[in-house]
Amino acid sequence: MSTSSSPDNKIESFKSIDLFKQLTDETLELLISNSHEVTLNPGDTLFHDGDPGDSMYVILSGEIAILKGNSMIARKGRGNYFGEMTLIEDQPRSATVTALTKSSLLKIMKEQFLLHLASNPQALMAVLKTVSERSRENLTALNEGIKIFKAQKKLNANLQHLLDDTTNEIYIFDAESYRFIRLNTRAIRNLGYREIETTQLTLFDVMPNMTRENFEELVKPLRSGMVEETGFIEQHHRKDGSTYPIEIRFKLQTTETPPVFVGIGQDISKLTELVNENINLTRYDYLTGLPNRTLILEQLNTELVQANRENLSIAVLLMDLDEFKIINDSMGHTAGDLLLKAVAERLQDWSPTNRHIARLSGDEFIILLSGDSIETQARKAAADLLKLFQNPFSINGQDIVVSLSIGISFYPKDGNDGETLIRQADTAMYIAKEKGKNTTCHYLSDMEAQAKKKLILEGDIRKALERNEFVLYYQPKLALDSETIVGFESLVRWNHPSQGLVPPLDFIPLAEKTRLIIPLGEWVLRTACKQIKTWLDMGFSNPHTAVNLSAHQFSQSNLVATIKEIIEETEIQAKYLEVEITESVLMENADMAAAQLRQLSEMGIKISIDDFGTGYSSLSYLNTFPLNNLKIDRAFVKDITSMEHATLAKAIVTLAKSLNLGTIAEGVETETQKHVLRSIECDAIQGYLLSKPVPAEEATKLLTSSKNTILPWKE
Ligand code: C2E
Ligand code: MG
Ligand code: MG
Repeated sequence: MSTSSSPDNKIESFKSIDLFKQLTDETLELLISNSHEVTLNPGDTLFHDGDPGDSMYVILSGEIAILKGNSMIARKGRGNYFGEMTLIEDQPRSATVTALTKSSLLKIMKEQFLLHLASNPQALMAVLKTVSERSRENLTALNEGIKIFKAQKKLNANLQHLLDDTTNEIYIFDAESYRFIRLNTRAIRNLGYREIETTQLTLFDVMPNMTRENFEELVKPLRSGMVEETGFIEQHHRKDGSTYPIEIRFKLQTTETPPVFVGIGQDISKLTELVNENINLTRYDYLTGLPNRTLILEQLNTELVQANRENLSIAVLLMDLDEFKIINDSMGHTAGDLLLKAVAERLQDWSPTNRHIARLSGDEFIILLSGDSIETQARKAAADLLKLFQNPFSINGQDIVVSLSIGISFYPKDGNDGETLIRQADTAMYIAKEKGKNTTCHYLSDMEAQAKKKLILEGDIRKALERNEFVLYYQPKLALDSETIVGFESLVRWNHPSQGLVPPLDFIPLAEKTRLIIPLGEWVLRTACKQIKTWLDMGFSNPHTAVNLSAHQFSQSNLVATIKEIIEETEIQAKYLEVEITESVLMENADMAAAQLRQLSEMGIKISIDDFGTGYSSLSYLNTFPLNNLKIDRAFVKDITSMEHATLAKAIVTLAKSLNLGTIAEGVETETQKHVLRSIECDAIQGYLLSKPVPAEEATKLLTSSKNTILPWKE
């Protein structure tokens, strides 16, 4: 900072400054000659808030900043003046002044001010005007401050309550500045800040990948009131620079003053890890840690390639615990789980290499053997296993003896692919059970009768359509929030003249093999749509019905046209029809499926992923198809006996929500399952608890008795 006396030749230039306009040349000359010119370099501070003062300043050139604390409250340039309050009120400086650029100021001391400016009424008026404007500005700033203060300290009761949430991260921030107002403890802790620091942050400090423009685009529907809630998955950055994926939903609260956004987020690192490591929901059994059906099938298929190349044989041993259901029911599911774990351990100990043992489902385990003289090897292994299970298991201090039924199939004798070999072993296992349990059965020798039966069915299936032997059953779906029926899944049955009601799994694979699934599938679609029409005509508002589509139907190029035709013919709206497809159908025919699904979705048809979690879940595909609902497979529901066992179901619900998909749990059989599913925010359930699949007339009765005033689910 330097000072110099003012030169006389500046009078003209000074007269262009408002404050001096009113002064005569003589007065101005005196004022200038008795004042100092001060030069400031960028960053130089002229005075601090609280400093005593005896002068005011007029800016002759450059720019200066007026600061309160760390924030700049005004920026001033040539002709502006400041510091006059000190002279009028005899108060210390009320702000800090710093130069932004190289600046030159005229420093007018108190005596000069009184002598020249205060004695000139017009100049004094100019000064007073500025003084009153400044106090008005201060008042506005104060009001704003009070508003922000109020918003920070006193949120409406419901928002305050929200902050107690201990499972989600809660972010409340100003809807204009995006500055955080309040975060709950969970959010603060996960981000690694101190609470006091968070009010200095905006949303974009923790979500640096998100721009203001992108965010505004995403919340546009919230601002316009079109939707109440929107959400996405983003990376949150902690104070230490580390990141974590968060699934976050936003609401706009206009009831707050000023309006705030409320973000409710969940750290989904665990879920993402599961998926990334490919130890996803689909390849390992979480109870025993053993590979599950998907993985063992992959392993079997790899073995098959090698066996084929090296001319080796393979044996598939499928084991089922005898009377497991009784143990489970009498001792409780926790004991049942412990037993399954103990069985898994015993099997692993028995096969020290640990290779190729898996839990297929429930109480079914599988072992793969390969090498020479496979039949002898397999028989010996089966005998060893039966013996191994003669020793009791100690569960909760109680000794339990369980026996096994084992079915065996061989490659290449009984089949060439993994699915077939497992199926044959399964059939053999059932025969073993029928024979009296605790025994082994080998596929081919015992299965001939069964195979014959299949051949008969295959011949019959052709005629069944003409003879009208198929029947469509309907199983209701219940929305958990409204406790009302929101639609049905249609499930086909074959009313066989000599064998009675044949379940679909006994003839659908056969129908697929013989391509009869195409006309059968069309019959199912038409029958379901006709039923929807009947229900609509009866005045029901919730006749939404789902139809299962098989892979073969999907590879048909005219699937969309057929569905369109049936919808027109039955005179229903497409929105009442839903199609269920499995993940494998999507994965196998990805391109074709994507195109067809898009067309179906554009028509208004709903699309659900069936048996979700059992197939090859690659999360990336979920985004690429126009889906509406995920049906959580029975396998995940079956294990729900308490909150702790609902981890996977919860992970699926979280995932579905992040993708904006609805969730239906399949195979719900108990009140506990229903209760837990509701608490993890699953949308709807389907299962024996509510009703078995029933013929149309009975389904109509169910609709009649359900509260029938609800809105359709997931429009
Ligand atoms: P899905 O689509 O997963 O159907 C659900 C199956 O679970 C049905 O067996 C249903 O009866 C059964 N289920 C429902 N609630 C419970 C429960 O609480 N506990 C138990 N243990 N099971 C329950 P269903 O009718 O035997 O059908 C089996 C599969 O056959 C279906 O599985 C579906 O993939 C296929 N399917 C059925 N109808 C058709 C059809 O019209 N077309 C095609 N392509 N496939 C069909
Ligand atoms: Mg289904
Ligand atoms: Mg299913």
